[in-house]
Amino acid sequence: MNLKEYRQKRQFTRTPEPAGEEKSDGKTHFVVQRHQARNLHYDFRLEMAGVLRSWAVPKGVPLESGVRRLAVRVEDHPVEYLDFAGTIPEGEYGAGTVEIWDKGTFEINRAEIDLLEFTLNGEKLSGGYVLIHTGGKNWLLIKRKE
Ligand code: MN
Repeated sequence: MNLKEYRQKRQFTRTPEPAGEEKSDGKTHFVVQRHQARNLHYDFRLEMAGVLRSWAVPKGVPLESGVRRLAVRVEDHPVEYLDFAGTIPEGEYGAGTVEIWDKGTFEINRAEIDLLEFTLNGEKLSGGYVLIHTGGKNWLLIKRKE
């Protein structure tokens, strides 16, 4: 995992987003950003291996157990993106407004190549979730039954 694709897509002289660096402070944070781009979506990011593994979730992270939401894997983002909110200018990648919808910590319960189980401890989101890889960039994000 690295930030090459993230950086290639952006001009840091023009966007307020952080260029970032790959690093880890041993803590595992998550963030959900509401991104009003060409299409509204929610970006779900988990701090893993020094970067934020990221998925775009068109309908948002489910609050009720059993609900399945498409989550499209996107490029890793720098850890500094946990705190990013602002406006990405017209003409730039991801142009639009980014707001922090929820943030907190998480712990991994089970990790396999195509499956990730974790527990979120956020303000809006809490409890067990699972991400299941269904092919290509597509994953399903499901809130587990307690
Ligand atoms: Mn986005």
